[in-house]
Amino acid sequence: MQVFNEINALKHALSIERKDGKKIGFVPTMGFFHDGHMSLMKEAINETDCVVVSIFVNPTQFGPGEDFESYPRNMERDLKLCEELGVHYVFTPEVSEMYPAGYSTFVECEGGITHTLCGASRPGHFKGVTSVVNKLFNIVEPDLAFFGQKDAQQVAVLDKMVRDLNMNLKIIPCPIMRENDGLAMSSRNVYLNAIERKEALVLSESLKIASSLIQDGERNSNKIIEQMKAHIMTASSAVIDYVQIVENDNLSDIDTVVGDVLFAVAVRIGKTRLIDNMRMTI
Ligand code: AMP
Repeated sequence: MQVFNEINALKHALSIERKDGKKIGFVPTMGFFHDGHMSLMKEAINETDCVVVSIFVNPTQFGPGEDFESYPRNMERDLKLCEELGVHYVFTPEVSEMYPAGYSTFVECEGGITHTLCGASRPGHFKGVTSVVNKLFNIVEPDLAFFGQKDAQQVAVLDKMVRDLNMNLKIIPCPIMRENDGLAMSSRNVYLNAIERKEALVLSESLKIASSLIQDGERNSNKIIEQMKAHIMTASSAVIDYVQIVENDNLSDIDTVVGDVLFAVAVRIGKTRLIDNMRMTI
Protein backbone atom coordinates (compact mmCIF):
# COMPACT_ATOMS: atom_id res chain seq x y z
CA MET A 1 0.00 0.00 0.00
CA GLN A 2 1.27 3.47 -0.84
CA VAL A 3 0.24 6.63 0.99
CA PHE A 4 0.34 10.00 -0.80
CA ASN A 5 -0.37 13.47 0.46
CA GLU A 6 0.60 15.24 -2.75
CA ILE A 7 -1.81 15.43 -5.68
CA ASN A 8 0.79 15.21 -8.45
CA ALA A 9 2.56 12.20 -6.95
CA LEU A 10 -0.73 10.29 -6.67
CA LYS A 11 -1.76 11.28 -10.22
CA HIS A 12 1.55 10.01 -11.56
CA ALA A 13 1.28 6.65 -9.75
CA LEU A 14 -2.30 6.18 -10.93
CA SER A 15 -1.45 7.06 -14.53
CA ILE A 16 0.92 4.07 -14.54
CA GLU A 17 -1.81 1.79 -13.12
CA ARG A 18 -4.18 3.06 -15.81
CA LYS A 19 -1.62 2.40 -18.56
CA ASP A 20 -1.36 -1.15 -17.20
CA GLY A 21 -5.08 -1.52 -17.91
CA LYS A 22 -6.15 -1.50 -14.26
CA LYS A 23 -9.75 -0.66 -13.41
CA ILE A 24 -9.63 1.99 -10.68
CA GLY A 25 -12.03 1.97 -7.71
CA PHE A 26 -12.29 4.98 -5.41
CA VAL A 27 -13.65 5.33 -1.87
CA PRO A 28 -13.71 8.95 -0.64
CA THR A 29 -13.91 9.26 3.17
CA MET A 30 -13.30 11.63 6.07
CA GLY A 31 -11.58 8.83 8.03
CA PHE A 32 -12.14 7.49 11.58
CA PHE A 33 -13.15 4.19 10.04
CA HIS A 34 -15.96 1.88 11.11
CA ASP A 35 -17.43 -1.15 9.35
CA GLY A 36 -19.48 1.12 7.06
CA HIS A 37 -16.28 2.52 5.54
CA MET A 38 -14.70 -0.94 5.43
CA SER A 39 -17.71 -2.34 3.53
CA LEU A 40 -17.20 0.24 0.77
CA MET A 41 -13.51 -0.68 0.54
CA LYS A 42 -14.34 -4.41 0.39
CA GLU A 43 -16.81 -3.77 -2.42
CA ALA A 44 -14.18 -1.70 -4.27
CA ILE A 45 -11.61 -4.50 -3.85
CA ASN A 46 -14.14 -7.03 -5.23
CA GLU A 47 -15.15 -4.89 -8.20
CA THR A 48 -11.92 -3.22 -9.34
CA ASP A 49 -8.17 -3.93 -9.70
CA CYS A 50 -6.69 -0.88 -8.01
CA VAL A 51 -8.38 0.67 -4.97
CA VAL A 52 -7.78 4.25 -3.88
CA VAL A 53 -9.13 5.51 -0.53
CA SER A 54 -9.00 9.20 0.33
CA ILE A 55 -9.00 10.43 3.93
CA PHE A 56 -9.77 14.14 4.01
CA VAL A 57 -11.92 16.05 6.49
CA ASN A 58 -13.19 18.60 4.01
CA PRO A 59 -13.65 22.04 5.60
CA THR A 60 -15.90 23.40 2.82
CA GLN A 61 -18.72 20.98 3.62
CA PHE A 62 -18.92 22.06 7.28
CA GLY A 63 -21.00 25.12 8.16
CA PRO A 64 -20.03 27.75 10.74
CA GLY A 65 -20.50 26.28 14.23
CA GLU A 66 -20.40 22.69 12.93
CA ASP A 67 -17.84 20.11 14.09
CA PHE A 68 -14.97 20.54 11.57
CA GLU A 69 -12.37 21.17 14.31
CA SER A 70 -13.58 18.42 16.64
CA TYR A 71 -14.41 15.84 13.95
CA PRO A 72 -12.87 12.54 15.15
CA ARG A 73 -9.56 11.63 13.51
CA ASN A 74 -7.21 8.63 13.85
CA MET A 75 -4.91 8.45 10.83
CA GLU A 76 -2.61 5.76 12.22
CA ARG A 77 -5.45 3.31 12.87
CA ASP A 78 -7.15 4.15 9.54
CA LEU A 79 -3.97 3.45 7.55
CA LYS A 80 -3.48 0.14 9.36
CA LEU A 81 -7.06 -0.93 8.52
CA CYS A 82 -6.58 -0.01 4.84
CA GLU A 83 -3.31 -1.95 4.69
CA GLU A 84 -4.83 -5.05 6.33
CA LEU A 85 -7.75 -5.00 3.90
CA GLY A 86 -5.57 -4.78 0.79
CA VAL A 87 -6.20 -1.19 -0.32
CA HIS A 88 -3.57 -0.12 -2.89
CA TYR A 89 -3.37 3.66 -2.41
CA VAL A 90 -4.42 6.06 0.34
CA PHE A 91 -4.62 9.78 -0.38
CA THR A 92 -4.25 11.96 2.74
CA PRO A 93 -3.90 15.58 1.58
CA GLU A 94 -3.53 18.56 3.91
CA VAL A 95 -6.20 21.26 3.56
CA SER A 96 -3.57 23.50 1.91
CA GLU A 97 -2.92 20.86 -0.79
CA MET A 98 -6.62 20.74 -1.74
CA TYR A 99 -7.33 24.44 -1.22
CA PRO A 100 -4.12 26.43 -1.77
CA ALA A 101 -4.13 30.19 -1.18
CA GLY A 102 -6.34 31.89 -3.76
CA TYR A 103 -8.51 28.82 -4.37
CA SER A 104 -11.94 29.99 -5.57
CA THR A 105 -13.70 27.45 -7.79
CA PHE A 106 -16.78 25.55 -6.60
CA VAL A 107 -19.21 23.12 -8.23
CA GLU A 108 -22.83 23.41 -7.20
CA CYS A 109 -25.82 21.24 -7.98
CA GLU A 110 -28.81 23.58 -7.85
CA GLY A 111 -32.48 22.90 -7.30
CA GLY A 112 -34.67 21.01 -4.88
CA ILE A 113 -32.38 18.01 -4.57
CA THR A 114 -29.81 20.03 -2.58
CA HIS A 115 -32.28 22.22 -0.69
CA THR A 116 -34.46 19.54 0.90
CA LEU A 117 -33.57 17.11 3.77
CA CYS A 118 -30.02 17.84 5.04
CA GLY A 119 -29.63 20.70 2.54
CA ALA A 120 -32.34 22.68 4.37
CA SER A 121 -30.57 22.66 7.73
CA ARG A 122 -26.98 22.61 6.40
CA PRO A 123 -26.85 25.41 3.78
CA GLY A 124 -23.74 25.12 1.62
CA HIS A 125 -23.04 21.53 2.73
CA PHE A 126 -23.71 19.93 -0.64
CA LYS A 127 -21.80 22.66 -2.48
CA GLY A 128 -18.80 21.63 -0.36
CA VAL A 129 -19.42 17.96 -1.09
CA THR A 130 -19.84 18.33 -4.87
CA SER A 131 -16.79 20.62 -5.06
CA VAL A 132 -14.45 18.33 -3.14
CA VAL A 133 -15.71 15.13 -4.79
CA ASN A 134 -15.28 16.80 -8.20
CA LYS A 135 -11.67 17.64 -7.33
CA LEU A 136 -11.08 14.12 -6.01
CA PHE A 137 -12.58 12.60 -9.17
CA ASN A 138 -10.25 14.76 -11.30
CA ILE A 139 -7.27 13.66 -9.23
CA VAL A 140 -8.07 9.92 -9.08
CA GLU A 141 -10.01 9.51 -12.37
CA PRO A 142 -11.77 6.39 -11.07
CA ASP A 143 -13.86 3.99 -13.14
CA LEU A 144 -16.12 3.28 -10.17
CA ALA A 145 -16.67 5.39 -7.04
CA PHE A 146 -18.23 3.78 -3.95
CA PHE A 147 -20.54 5.69 -1.58
CA GLY A 148 -22.71 4.61 1.35
CA GLN A 149 -26.49 4.68 1.11
CA LYS A 150 -26.33 5.92 4.73
CA ASP A 151 -25.86 9.35 3.11
CA ALA A 152 -28.68 8.79 0.61
CA GLN A 153 -28.95 12.46 -0.35
CA GLN A 154 -25.21 12.60 -1.01
CA VAL A 155 -25.55 9.61 -3.37
CA ALA A 156 -28.49 11.25 -5.18
CA VAL A 157 -26.68 14.60 -5.54
CA LEU A 158 -23.38 13.05 -6.70
CA ASP A 159 -25.16 10.75 -9.12
CA LYS A 160 -26.86 13.82 -10.61
CA MET A 161 -23.55 15.70 -10.79
CA VAL A 162 -21.96 12.78 -12.66
CA ARG A 163 -24.86 12.68 -15.14
CA ASP A 164 -25.18 16.47 -15.53
CA LEU A 165 -21.45 16.93 -16.14
CA ASN A 166 -21.05 13.78 -18.30
CA MET A 167 -18.33 12.43 -16.04
CA ASN A 168 -16.70 9.25 -17.17
CA LEU A 169 -17.34 7.12 -14.09
CA LYS A 170 -20.08 5.29 -12.26
CA ILE A 171 -21.30 5.87 -8.70
CA ILE A 172 -21.86 2.59 -6.84
CA PRO A 173 -24.21 2.94 -3.83
CA CYS A 174 -23.50 0.47 -0.98
CA PRO A 175 -25.85 -0.69 1.80
CA ILE A 176 -26.04 0.90 5.26
CA MET A 177 -23.96 -0.92 7.89
CA ARG A 178 -25.53 -1.00 11.36
CA GLU A 179 -24.54 -1.89 14.91
CA ASN A 180 -26.20 -5.07 16.26
CA ASP A 181 -29.00 -3.06 17.86
CA GLY A 182 -29.81 -1.24 14.60
CA LEU A 183 -27.99 2.10 15.03
CA ALA A 184 -26.51 3.15 11.67
CA MET A 185 -22.72 3.26 11.98
CA SER A 186 -21.28 6.78 11.90
CA SER A 187 -17.99 8.38 12.90
CA ARG A 188 -20.11 10.82 14.92
CA ASN A 189 -21.53 8.04 17.16
CA VAL A 190 -18.45 8.48 19.41
CA TYR A 191 -19.90 11.83 20.52
CA LEU A 192 -22.83 10.03 22.22
CA ASN A 193 -22.76 9.37 25.97
CA ALA A 194 -24.24 6.10 27.33
CA ILE A 195 -27.78 7.48 27.71
CA GLU A 196 -27.73 9.18 24.30
CA ARG A 197 -26.36 6.01 22.69
CA LYS A 198 -29.49 4.15 23.88
CA GLU A 199 -31.80 7.00 22.88
CA ALA A 200 -30.20 7.17 19.41
CA LEU A 201 -32.02 3.93 18.61
CA VAL A 202 -35.20 5.96 18.00
CA LEU A 203 -33.92 6.78 14.49
CA SER A 204 -33.73 3.18 13.24
CA GLU A 205 -36.81 2.22 15.28
CA SER A 206 -38.84 4.97 13.59
CA LEU A 207 -37.89 3.47 10.20
CA LYS A 208 -39.03 0.03 11.42
CA ILE A 209 -42.34 1.60 12.46
CA ALA A 210 -42.71 3.08 8.96
CA SER A 211 -41.91 -0.31 7.45
CA SER A 212 -44.55 -2.11 9.50
CA LEU A 213 -47.17 0.57 8.75
CA ILE A 214 -46.46 0.04 5.04
CA GLN A 215 -46.81 -3.74 5.51
CA ASP A 216 -50.20 -3.08 7.15
CA GLY A 217 -51.29 -1.16 4.06
CA GLU A 218 -50.88 2.45 5.22
CA ARG A 219 -49.97 4.73 2.28
CA ASN A 220 -50.64 8.20 3.69
CA SER A 221 -47.28 9.96 4.18
CA ASN A 222 -48.49 12.34 6.88
CA LYS A 223 -49.92 9.56 9.00
CA ILE A 224 -46.69 7.56 8.78
CA ILE A 225 -44.55 10.64 9.51
CA GLU A 226 -46.71 11.47 12.55
CA GLN A 227 -46.11 8.04 14.08
CA MET A 228 -42.39 8.15 13.31
CA LYS A 229 -42.11 11.56 14.96
CA ALA A 230 -44.14 10.44 17.99
CA HIS A 231 -41.72 7.56 18.51
CA ILE A 232 -38.62 9.73 18.10
CA MET A 233 -39.97 12.18 20.67
CA THR A 234 -40.10 9.42 23.30
CA ALA A 235 -36.33 9.99 23.64
CA SER A 236 -35.82 12.90 26.02
CA SER A 237 -32.59 14.03 24.31
CA ALA A 238 -34.10 14.00 20.78
CA VAL A 239 -34.78 17.13 18.74
CA ILE A 240 -36.13 16.36 15.28
CA ASP A 241 -34.49 18.09 12.33
CA TYR A 242 -36.64 16.34 9.71
CA VAL A 243 -38.72 13.22 9.12
CA GLN A 244 -39.61 13.02 5.42
CA ILE A 245 -40.86 10.55 2.85
CA VAL A 246 -39.57 11.43 -0.61
CA GLU A 247 -39.19 10.06 -4.12
CA ASN A 248 -35.82 8.35 -4.23
CA ASP A 249 -34.48 9.88 -7.44
CA ASN A 250 -35.41 13.58 -7.08
CA LEU A 251 -36.01 13.67 -3.28
CA SER A 252 -39.30 15.57 -3.61
CA ASP A 253 -41.92 14.99 -0.88
CA ILE A 254 -44.80 12.64 -1.63
CA ASP A 255 -48.31 12.51 -0.16
CA THR A 256 -48.99 8.90 -1.10
CA VAL A 257 -46.30 6.31 -0.51
CA VAL A 258 -45.88 4.44 -3.79
CA GLY A 259 -42.94 3.77 -6.14
CA ASP A 260 -39.23 4.00 -5.30
CA VAL A 261 -39.41 5.77 -1.96
CA LEU A 262 -36.92 7.04 0.64
CA PHE A 263 -37.85 7.41 4.31
CA ALA A 264 -35.30 9.82 5.76
CA VAL A 265 -34.74 11.09 9.29
CA ALA A 266 -32.33 13.54 10.91
CA VAL A 267 -32.40 13.97 14.66
CA ARG A 268 -30.24 15.78 17.16
CA ILE A 269 -29.49 13.49 20.10
CA GLY A 270 -28.07 15.91 22.64
CA LYS A 271 -25.45 17.84 20.67
CA THR A 272 -24.99 15.13 18.01
CA ARG A 273 -26.87 15.31 14.73
CA LEU A 274 -27.58 11.81 13.38
CA ILE A 275 -29.20 10.70 10.13
CA ASP A 276 -30.71 7.43 8.93
CA ASN A 277 -32.89 6.27 6.08
CA MET A 278 -34.67 3.34 4.46
CA ARG A 279 -35.32 2.83 0.77
CA MET A 280 -38.36 0.83 -0.30
CA THR A 281 -40.12 0.00 -3.53
CA ILE A 282 -43.87 -0.12 -2.95
P1 AMP B 1 -17.63 9.80 5.84
O1 AMP B 1 -16.25 9.41 6.28
O2 AMP B 1 -18.61 9.92 6.96
O3 AMP B 1 -17.63 10.97 4.89
O4 AMP B 1 -18.15 8.57 4.98
C1 AMP B 1 -17.42 8.08 3.89
C2 AMP B 1 -18.29 7.12 3.13
O5 AMP B 1 -18.71 6.07 3.99
C3 AMP B 1 -19.56 7.79 2.58
O6 AMP B 1 -19.82 7.29 1.28
C4 AMP B 1 -20.61 7.34 3.56
O7 AMP B 1 -21.91 7.28 3.01
C5 AMP B 1 -20.11 5.95 3.89
N1 AMP B 1 -20.70 5.49 5.15
C6 AMP B 1 -20.74 6.16 6.32
N2 AMP B 1 -21.43 5.46 7.24
C7 AMP B 1 -21.84 4.33 6.63
C8 AMP B 1 -22.61 3.19 7.04
N3 AMP B 1 -23.09 3.08 8.27
N4 AMP B 1 -22.83 2.21 6.13
C9 AMP B 1 -22.35 2.31 4.88
N5 AMP B 1 -21.62 3.36 4.42
C10 AMP B 1 -21.38 4.35 5.29
